[in-house]
Amino acid sequence: LIELRGVNKHFGTLHVLQDIHLSVGRGEVVVVIGPSGSGKSTLCRAMNRLESVESGEILIDGEPLPEEGKALARLRAEVGMVFQSFNLFAHKTVLANVSLAQMKVRKRKRDEADRRSRELLERVGLAAHAEKYPSQLSGGQQQRVAIARALAMDPKALLFDEPTSALDPEMINEVLEVMRQLARDGMTMVVVTHEMGFARSAANRVVFMADGRIVEDRAPEDFFTAPNSERARDFLSKIL
Ligand code: ATP
Ligand code: MG
Repeated sequence: LIELRGVNKHFGTLHVLQDIHLSVGRGEVVVVIGPSGSGKSTLCRAMNRLESVESGEILIDGEPLPEEGKALARLRAEVGMVFQSFNLFAHKTVLANVSLAQMKVRKRKRDEADRRSRELLERVGLAAHAEKYPSQLSGGQQQRVAIARALAMDPKALLFDEPTSALDPEMINEVLEVMRQLARDGMTMVVVTHEMGFARSAANRVVFMADGRIVEDRAPEDFFTAPNSERARDFLSKIL
């Protein structure tokens, strides 16, 4: 579903993505881990063209990423992204936050969009909070709204960049549980996270990045029990 072939990118002299080959199949959950600055966010952002790349190919469903315009907006709907900061509109209700892009991008009428929004809010356990404003919700609830908003675009895949890093510990699990449920429902997901429990339990593959390269790309049980590289062993010894 998502395919990167020989992708390279620099920030100035920093070679932040070095000859990246990665393929994410339909329904697969790929967790990306690695030290700070290794290029995880850049990799994620490249997949829906929030970041341009210099060389190589990125294909979604066999199609190259569009450069701009309407096709790019459609791509961003099809490959949704959930960030560490939830980026909700503060002056709009939860319901309106989930409905807005559906009306704009998917051209749904308000009542159709609202109906879909309520279904999704139910799915992330927030049906009772539809009329509230983001500031009236906890961080974990706000992140679940952001996930509902991404789902409302009927994405083919979802990218998560450290979705729980900004949350208090007691809220992390409610967000991870929603993500586990999505995984069970067959959503294709790329997840940058430091939550190794999630990686072990929900990922089909773990991709370990260091210095802009993919150093390992393996099943979680193999990766965590016997990492191949010194870099990964060193990383795991620091975080586990
Ligand atoms: P973290 O775990 O801290 O989020 P990361 O693995 O997500 O790190 P990236 O955010 O992809 O790393 O950044 C990779 C490198 O590129 C870092 O050295 C970072 O400073 C640099 N970088 C990222 N964005 C830019 C930018 N817009 N301009 C210049 N350098 C950048
Ligand atoms: Mg990052």
